[in-house]
Amino acid sequence: MIGFRNVTVVPPERTIADGVVLVRDDRIQALGSSKLIDLPEDTQIIDGQGNTLAPGFIELQINGGFGMDFTESPETIWPVAERLPVYGVTSFLPTVITSPMDTFQRAIEVMQAGEPAGFRGARPLGLHIEGPFLSLERKGAHNPQYIRPPDLNLIANWSRDNGVRLVTLAAEQPGGLDMVKTLVSRGVVVSIGHSTATYEQAIEAFTAGVTYGTHLFNGQPPLHHREPGLPAALLTEPGVAFGLIADGIHVHPAMVNLVWLAKGPDGITLVTDAMAALGMPSGTYHLGDYDVIVDETSAWLADRSTLAGSVLTNDSALRNLMAFTGCSLEQALLTLTRTPARVLGLADRGLLAEGAVADLVLLSPDGRVLMTMAAGEVVFHAGR
Ligand code: ZN
Repeated sequence: MIGFRNVTVVPPERTIADGVVLVRDDRIQALGSSKLIDLPEDTQIIDGQGNTLAPGFIELQINGGFGMDFTESPETIWPVAERLPVYGVTSFLPTVITSPMDTFQRAIEVMQAGEPAGFRGARPLGLHIEGPFLSLERKGAHNPQYIRPPDLNLIANWSRDNGVRLVTLAAEQPGGLDMVKTLVSRGVVVSIGHSTATYEQAIEAFTAGVTYGTHLFNGQPPLHHREPGLPAALLTEPGVAFGLIADGIHVHPAMVNLVWLAKGPDGITLVTDAMAALGMPSGTYHLGDYDVIVDETSAWLADRSTLAGSVLTNDSALRNLMAFTGCSLEQALLTLTRTPARVLGLADRGLLAEGAVADLVLLSPDGRVLMTMAAGEVVFHAGR
């Protein structure tokens, strides 16, 4: 058994000062105040030195990292997964963007094959397929050559059982609502995104089963006081959450603050939308079959006017959210833990509780990742 002591435990909706968390195999066995919990004698002790212990981060949208692109090579899901704990990530949805249909099939086969022997790292919980049923008008960095109208024949094997966990589509298109209902009936979470939906069309999509919005504001009509559009629908619909890229570039810090005030932590999931250049120096990288020019803070298509994913890390997104809104670490953590878990319907991740998966991140008071445990194994330790 492994026991954390001398930690502030943030489960995350409350705080346990001078806390203890006991891990047996891949699960949390017990947690609470050190006054109430005795660690068994054979426990391997990790002294948290007063730092904060939170649930591991759940990332719903990431395209690759460390020089690897999931759309170009779905097999790279595993080597990227091994390295994501450096940012506090313990589970994620590898995201495959608009491409020929056989690319999605290859990604499904990678998920079905399961984890390689001896794998240690963040766990992929299934694919996020972003495309190809998107709006050409809001395509962003998706190749229009492969964007298609909704067609149920093309998604015959897209299901949660086959490793598809979330699909982003433009639900306002002809056939879009049928596709939403079909995917929901197969256990897939459906997100509206890269979409021109009006406010009314967005409400119809929610009624059909859409429960999430892909990167609020990006790839969407703007928020306008006489044309509220998809963003206003996502911001005001109870029970519908959305991804937010809090790098200060995709969305202005003042708009992040406005979003926070409108929706709060239960409706926001911080996503990075990170691409192959995550964790790498500036240069030219791939996203799908596009070249992407990357500097220290952002990733652009060659036209220099279309953002092509990000190089944002999850822990910097956490710190940005606190800086842009003035919220507390406990509140900000909800957007990386409890809320994405709820979007996916996970009962045993995104929280610290007896019986939950032992996905943990140890954070300094300013929100830097000191140690990450995934499924009971220490998979990242700063300074080692
Ligand atoms: Zn996108």
